[in-house]
Amino acid sequence: MREFLERAQAAVGDDGRLVPGSMASWDVFPFETAGLRVRSLEEYAVPEPDRTRTPESCGTCRALVTDDLLLHTGERLGVVRPSGCNLVFVANVVSRSHESLDDLDDEGHAEMGRLIGRTYRAMKSLEGVGNVHVNKWENGGGHLSVTLLARPEGVLQLRGSNLTVWADMLPATPREELDARAELVRAALAR
Ligand SMILES: [Zn+2]
Repeated sequence: MREFLERAQAAVGDDGRLVPGSMASWDVFPFETAGLRVRSLEEYAVPEPDRTRTPESCGTCRALVTDDLLLHTGERLGVVRPSGCNLVFVANVVSRSHESLDDLDDEGHAEMGRLIGRTYRAMKSLEGVGNVHVNKWENGGGHLSVTLLARPEGVLQLRGSNLTVWADMLPATPREELDARAELVRAALAR
C-alpha cells in the first residue's frame, strides 16, 4: 500500500534513511550499533514482480523426492529438511505438490497445524535444543513451506527473531550430526 511507504518515507532522517529501531539495542542483536546504517527505502512496486518458481526449479519439490531429505509424508503435506544448515536442526512442513498456502482448504490447514505441532515436538525433544521457532516465509516462490528452526540449548544470544541472522554467520553443522537428528525426527513423526 502506497500510503504505508509514504509514511515510512516521511519518517527518514536528514541522511534519507530510517534510524535503527529498538531491536538494535537488544542483547540478541547480532551487530554492534556504531556505524550501523539502515538501507535506503526502495520505490513502491505494484504490481509486484512474479517470483514464483516452476516445480522444476523449486528446491522444495526436489527435497520431496530426495529420500535423505524427506522426513515424513502425510496426506496433502509432508516434512522435509534442507540439505545442510548452521543450527541444531531445521525442518520444513511443506505441501506435497507445488502449491502455496493460499491454495489450502480447511482440511489442509488442519493437517498443517498438526504437522507443525508434531514436528515442533520432535525437534524440541532432540538433545541440546533450547527452543524451536516456527516461521512461514516462503517468499513468493509458490511452494508452501513452514520453517522450524532449532536453537542450541544454552546459547541464549541466538534466541528470538534474530536467530536466522546469526545462523547465516555460523559455521555449518556437521552432516553426520544432522543425519542422526533427521533419523530421530523421522521416527518421531512416524509414530
Ligand atoms: Zn515446489
